[in-house]
Amino acid sequence: MQDTVCCGCSVVCDDVAAEVTKTGIQSLGLCGLGHAYYSSIRSKSRLTKAQMKSKSTIAKSVPFKIAYEEASAILSKSKHPLLIGWSNSPIEVSQLGLKLAKVLKGVYDSTASYEYGQLRQNKLVGGETGKISLEEIRNFADFIVYWGVNPAESHHRHASRYTVFPAGEKIPEGRESRIVAVLDIRQTESMRLANHQLILDAEIGDEQFMTTLLTEIRGRPGTPPVKVGGIPAIEFLSFAKQIQEANYIAIFYGNGLLHSHHASKTLPLLSKVARVLNKKNRPCVTLPMVAYCNSIGVVKASQAETKIPYSVDFNSQPPKPHESVFQGLITNKFDAALIVGWDPISMLPAPIARALQQIPLITLATQPSLTTRESTIVIPTALTGAETTGTVYRMDGSAVPLQPITKPPANLPTEEQVLEQLTTRLGVK
Ligand code: SF4
Repeated sequence: MQDTVCCGCSVVCDDVAAEVTKTGIQSLGLCGLGHAYYSSIRSKSRLTKAQMKSKSTIAKSVPFKIAYEEASAILSKSKHPLLIGWSNSPIEVSQLGLKLAKVLKGVYDSTASYEYGQLRQNKLVGGETGKISLEEIRNFADFIVYWGVNPAESHHRHASRYTVFPAGEKIPEGRESRIVAVLDIRQTESMRLANHQLILDAEIGDEQFMTTLLTEIRGRPGTPPVKVGGIPAIEFLSFAKQIQEANYIAIFYGNGLLHSHHASKTLPLLSKVARVLNKKNRPCVTLPMVAYCNSIGVVKASQAETKIPYSVDFNSQPPKPHESVFQGLITNKFDAALIVGWDPISMLPAPIARALQQIPLITLATQPSLTTRESTIVIPTALTGAETTGTVYRMDGSAVPLQPITKPPANLPTEEQVLEQLTTRLGVK
C-alpha cells in the first residue's frame, strides 16, 4: 500500500494510503467518501475513450487527436467562450486554463464563484484562509462552531482529524477539552458531536442569533427575548457565555450561510462577531467549508494572474471581473464552454443548466455525468491525486503536493496534458 493524498474533499487528507488490487481498491485511513473517490479508478463506468457528437447524433468514440483538433476548432471559432470548473484539479491546470482564457478572450470562472456565494459581494472571500492552519486549530481551539454545514456528511474526517476529537498542544484531552456547537435550520448528523445543538428558525434565525450574540459580547445585554433566532433564551445564553470564556474559537460555516437569502447581512455580522471576540482577547478565526480539493487553489491562481478571485473576463485589457457568469449564460453571452472536472448541468439551477445545453460543450471528466451526456466533445482524463502529480490547496489554504498511487488506465492523459494539447493547437505560449 502506498502513501497518498486524498482529493475527495477540501480536507485533502495526507495521512492515508491506498492500493489498486485486481479486485478493487484497498485503503488505510480513507473515509467513506475518500474510499469511493479512489474506487472510481476501477469503476466500470469510467470514461476511457474520447467522444464526439453533433446536435443530431449520438456520441461516438474518436481518437484523442481528433478530439483535441475539434475542441481547438470550437474554441478558436468562439467569440466569447466560457472556461469553467477547475476546483477538482491541481493548481497547475488552473494556471493553464487562465492562459487559454486570455488568448481566447474568454471568461475564466471556477466553482468558487458559486461556492462562495455572497462572500464575494462582502469582500470576505475565504475568511482567514491562508492565515491560519487546521493544525493550529487542532492544537489550540477549545470552542468549535459549525454553522450551516454538516461535516459528518460532507467532510467526514474534519472533526476526527482537526476539530473535535484529536488532542493538541493546549487540548490535552481531545474531545473532553473542547466545546462544540452546531447551528443549523434542521437536525443534522453533525449535531451528535455537539454540546450545543442549536436548531435555528429558517427565516430569521441566523441574523437574530448573530445580532443578539454581538450585543451580548459587546457587553450591552438587554433583557434577552424568550427565544433568540428560534432558540430558547437559556440555550442561547449558555452558548454566549461559553464562547466568551473560550481561549480559541474556530467557526466553520457552509452553504447554510453562504447561500441563504440573508447572506448579505449574516456574513458581515459573523465577521463582526469574530472581530469583537478578537478585540476582547478571545482569538476567533472563521473559515468557509468549501467543497472541492482545490476550491482555494483556483482562487489563488486567478488572483496571482489577474488580482481577480474568479469570474475573470479577458475580453478587455486589463481583464475585469465578469458581473455574473450564470446570468451571462442565461442571456446567451457565451457561444461555447470548456468544462474541466465539474458537472455543472446536474449542480446548477435549471435555467442555467438549460442555457449550457444550448452551446457546444467540451468536457474533461473521469466519469459519465449529465454534463458529459450533453457535451459535443468529451475527453477522459486521469483522476486528480490518485493518478496525477501537482499541488492542491486544502480548505485552510495550505499547499499539499499530490502523491499518485497508480497510472491511469488506457494511458489516459492528465488534465494538464489535455490543456497543453489545446494550448499548443491554439498557439498559446
Ligand atoms: S475527509 Fe475528504 S480528503 Fe479526507 S479521506 Fe475523506 S474524502 Fe478524502
